[in-house]
Amino acid sequence: MTTHYDVIIIGSGAGGGTLFHALAPTGKRILLLERGDYVPREKDNWSTQAVTLEGKYNTREEGPAAGAPALHPHTNYYVGGNTKFYGAALFRLRREDFGELKHRGGVSPAWPIAYEDLEPYYTRAERLYQVHGERGVDPTDPPASAPYPHPPVSHEPRIQELSDDFARLGLRPFHVPLGVMLDEKDPRASRCIRCDTCDGHPCIVGAKSDAQVLCVDPALASHPNATLRTRARVTRLETSATGHEVKRVVVERDGAMEIYSADVVVVSAGAINSAALLLRSASDRHPRGLANGSDVVGRHYMGHVNSVLMALSKCPNPTVFQKTLAVNDFYFGSPEWDFPMGHISFVGKLDAHTLRAGAPAIAPGWTLELMARHSLDFWLTSEDLPDPDNRVTLDREGNIVLAYRPNNEEAHTRLTAALQRLMQQQTKCSVHGHDCHQGLFARNLFLGQRIPLAGVAHQNGTVRFGHDPRTSALDANCRAHEVDNLYVVDASFFPSSAAVNPALTIMANALRVGDHLRERLG
Ligand SMILES: Cc1cc2nc3c(=O)[nH]c(=O)nc-3n(C[C@H](O)[C@H](O)[C@H](O)COP(=O)(O)OP(=O)(O)OC[C@H]3O[C@@H](n4cnc5c(N)ncnc54)[C@H](O)[C@@H]3O)c2cc1C
Ligand code: SF4
Repeated sequence: MTTHYDVIIIGSGAGGGTLFHALAPTGKRILLLERGDYVPREKDNWSTQAVTLEGKYNTREEGPAAGAPALHPHTNYYVGGNTKFYGAALFRLRREDFGELKHRGGVSPAWPIAYEDLEPYYTRAERLYQVHGERGVDPTDPPASAPYPHPPVSHEPRIQELSDDFARLGLRPFHVPLGVMLDEKDPRASRCIRCDTCDGHPCIVGAKSDAQVLCVDPALASHPNATLRTRARVTRLETSATGHEVKRVVVERDGAMEIYSADVVVVSAGAINSAALLLRSASDRHPRGLANGSDVVGRHYMGHVNSVLMALSKCPNPTVFQKTLAVNDFYFGSPEWDFPMGHISFVGKLDAHTLRAGAPAIAPGWTLELMARHSLDFWLTSEDLPDPDNRVTLDREGNIVLAYRPNNEEAHTRLTAALQRLMQQQTKCSVHGHDCHQGLFARNLFLGQRIPLAGVAHQNGTVRFGHDPRTSALDANCRAHEVDNLYVVDASFFPSSAAVNPALTIMANALRVGDHLRERLG
């Protein structure tokens, strides 16, 4: 069996899977090491009880959160990584997110690259991941060199009504850019059937634009030089005597140890696991962890300040595919508040199982089933600022410990209040008139629920890139400052988290690093 490769990529998610696809056509020998297996295709893929309530596909791994009870991370170890389960909302960061932005809660630092450096790769990533959207409606939309490759996903009637209400109030609501293979003009031929179990679930019919379906599988099918090894957990990276290059990739596979080597090693195990892998790879030459002379590895963990906010009304919300509408009018602030607040959009339609998993307070007079049938389920995101004390470390046994103190919460509170005000100004309902939106609680009842720490879905920032080796672990090409053949391309490299979903930026950056590696490999 070959054990030496031109490139080894560790992790097959948004970063690693995309890079694998980008490098496969080079003819170089590429090995993709993935600790998980393929998600089994079965009816439970679309069961909210199995997926959300019972956590059937979540990792069983537990890591203690510092000073808190055991952490059961909502993360998934499979070919395709977390893109198998994501909601496929594929946003570009705003152009301003690449510069320094002052928040009420602190400073969001500048990136070592500008938006313009990533723009061509965003366009490529949108094509690769078949994004459906419409440019120029969102007031914060950054400039783009091409239209979206597919038209926006239409709103169902209740969401269209809400969009019209928001527009009437002077906002500029827009269609969420989505990676689903939906053809609304030809529904019979459409791969996507527009179901209610997209966000948080794997797609049984392979119609979600995830890294397995669109990157890993096609690369394996067309390029014999590209190899995938599943159930292959990388436990340690070992360097040459000088410490300047990774020489051995140590893998645990089905209880046995395997050793691989490569000219270039790319870590893409997700922001928590990549930091943990580098910390576990400490040696005489790298006593604080591999590539960690700066002591930033594991620090500046960010995960977004997120909440799910249910707006209940007397009329039911019959929407099936809910995640089509977003509002960015408060992204950089408002006339009353001069600091960024964040992004408003939707989660997939909640049902009673999903609500039970989140254990929300039950509104008086409502059951969970009733709440789920009558709610509009918003997803609010504010920027999480990089705090060096929010960090991944290892305990004595080598287990992951995540310490996290929330920040920038006032921005989120104000974003929530802005949405509450908007909802109170909805058009009167034709059935219940003034009474529709809940007499007891004025016109609307809101139940705010902050996503708990175990929700690590948007993890990023733990191996940040930058120009200065004293304050960053990676250079602008995502190469380790201290290790010549080591790169990191998952969400770890983010120096700031912005307030839109991260996956498209991870994918676009992987394509950018892919171009750099093509040059390097010759
Ligand atoms: C329910 C849910 C909904 C989401 N919705 C959205 C959305 O709508 N839009 C959006 O932009 N983002 C969304 N996200 C976030 C998005 O999925 C992540 O930002 C993205 O997948 C992160 O990419 P990554 O490459 O950093 O890591 P991942 O995609 O997590 O990939 C890491 C891979 O590394 C593997 N791995 C880990 N450790 C090792 C090891 N030691 N050895 C070998 N392999 C290893 C893992 O098994 C995994 O396959 C969502 C996430 C979740 C969980
Ligand atoms: S069929 Fe469409 S909406 Fe349903 S999970 Fe698949 S991609 Fe998502």
